[in-house]
Amino acid sequence: MEHILQTASITKNFGDFRALDDVSISIEKGKIFGLLGPNGAGKTTLIRIITKIYAADSGKVFFNGKELTEDHVLKIGYLPEERGLYKKMKVGEQLIYLGRIKGMPLDHVKERLKYWFQKFDIMDWWNKKIDELSKGMQQKIQFIASVIHQPSLIILDEPFTGFDPINANIIKKEILQLKEDGATIIFSTHRMESVEELCDNIALINKSKKILDGAKQQIKEDHKENIFEIEHRGDLNGLNGFVHVLNTKTIHDDLYQTTLQSATQISHNDLLRLLIDKVEIMSFAEKLPSINDIFISRVGGIRE
Ligand code: ADP
Ligand code: MG
Repeated sequence: MEHILQTASITKNFGDFRALDDVSISIEKGKIFGLLGPNGAGKTTLIRIITKIYAADSGKVFFNGKELTEDHVLKIGYLPEERGLYKKMKVGEQLIYLGRIKGMPLDHVKERLKYWFQKFDIMDWWNKKIDELSKGMQQKIQFIASVIHQPSLIILDEPFTGFDPINANIIKKEILQLKEDGATIIFSTHRMESVEELCDNIALINKSKKILDGAKQQIKEDHKENIFEIEHRGDLNGLNGFVHVLNTKTIHDDLYQTTLQSATQISHNDLLRLLIDKVEIMSFAEKLPSINDIFISRVGGIRE
């Protein structure tokens, strides 16, 4: 497994307050990594250390196995949490400027801007001043600014905050497309909705410490509670003591949807064997917890 970025035992204090405590994460190349945690957990602080805005008190950051330098940072695509564009500058001029300071030739900047402006269908924004745009529109421009130089690593700090659901979906689609095109993406969020669809790997940070990380699917498996959802015809009575009904709903006449829980781990086939003696199974699936369920159980709810 190849890692594009690693943080090793990062600790950061602000005065007496420890904002990051021994945080190590590894970002797999070509994957989408979700940096999750409630407000104030330390996500932005970690991102600012990765982008060299802050220096860590201890610990190191590695980019492609080498200690992170300013040159690496220039190559990273970064959408900061504080959205800041030059309010009086026109959209087109500003994006050309931002592309140029990343070292791109003018022709290349223009070509990439054409691609994004067509994609977002915003050709008529070119000559508008930033402060004539809504917050969401400005955020779209800043998203373009962060990916204009086709970075191999893209870090997006709370990319969905400030977007309505339609625009949040447009950005989600683009994040998936960037991965498809070979980029690695790290994004932070304190809301779990986007995590299921987007992330391959996650880390959960709470109160300055990493409390969980790994592949999203593995983490779900690790937190499973042996809950199954079945649709069946006929009454499900007299199950053995290990398996009990959590709830049951009538779908139609003799057709039911039942949620079962097994007190111990049971293979799908063993459970099916128990069930097919009693009812006709129409559908059968294990219900793994959502990342939101896991977040709440590990962190104890979302603090706004
Ligand atoms: P998150 O992005 O997970 O919401 P942050 O990394 O922004 O969290 O903040 C983590 C904690 O560190 C918060 O308690 C915040 O107030 C504190 N903090 C962040 N930046 C600074 C700073 N420059 N000076 C003092 N405290 C800070
Ligand atoms: Mg933050």
